[in-house]
Amino acid sequence: MALRLLLVTIAIMALASSFANASDPSPLQDFCVAINDPKDALFVNGKFCKNPDDVKADDFLFRGLNKPGNTKNPLGSKVTPVNVDNLAGLNTLGISLARIDFAPYGLNPPHTHPRATEVLAVLEGTLYVGFVLSNPPPGMKNKLFTKTLYPGDVFVFPEGLIHFQFNVGKTKAIAFAGLSSQNPGVITIANAVFGSDPPINPDVLTKAFQVDDKVIKYLQSQFWYDNN
Ligand code: MN
Repeated sequence: MALRLLLVTIAIMALASSFANASDPSPLQDFCVAINDPKDALFVNGKFCKNPDDVKADDFLFRGLNKPGNTKNPLGSKVTPVNVDNLAGLNTLGISLARIDFAPYGLNPPHTHPRATEVLAVLEGTLYVGFVLSNPPPGMKNKLFTKTLYPGDVFVFPEGLIHFQFNVGKTKAIAFAGLSSQNPGVITIANAVFGSDPPINPDVLTKAFQVDDKVIKYLQSQFWYDNN
């Protein structure tokens, strides 16, 4: 009886750990500084890796995140990412960072990160934030979770879910976000759906959104600003 309980426990733990492996894999070496030219590549684990003999402290440094992004744009927000593309030492390490600046009433529009959970810390201002669940058990389908955040507040957006941040204050807002991937990716929903290149056949979107095709053609004719 005790043995059976032990076996069941082991089986449940094995199942649980298989669910827990949904993020970037753990690094297999101390570091792998990214290079874009493969001619000096030693190992491949993410991007090509720089020869460790050539690695310097600067490979692990990014400067300038104290500078605000330019929020004079249609969204009134600007994301300044620090990921493997501008901090090569992040390669294979499964982590990155972003600064997000908001003008008064600026919006970081609904988007997802296909490869990362995001943890957001507000430094300044008041942000109305939220995310929408995918398809968990009945009754929770597309459920929206929202919160109003103030300086010092930290909020989590689980991996892959659609989320947004809206400055509801009369002053600018500043937030920093940690992301659980060196290359989290971003899909801005409106830009991807209505601003794809080339455009999606309007018949597809007319049926998908259950609206008149004039609405779709109007949306597809807009300029979809990318704040990333
Ligand atoms: Mn985000």
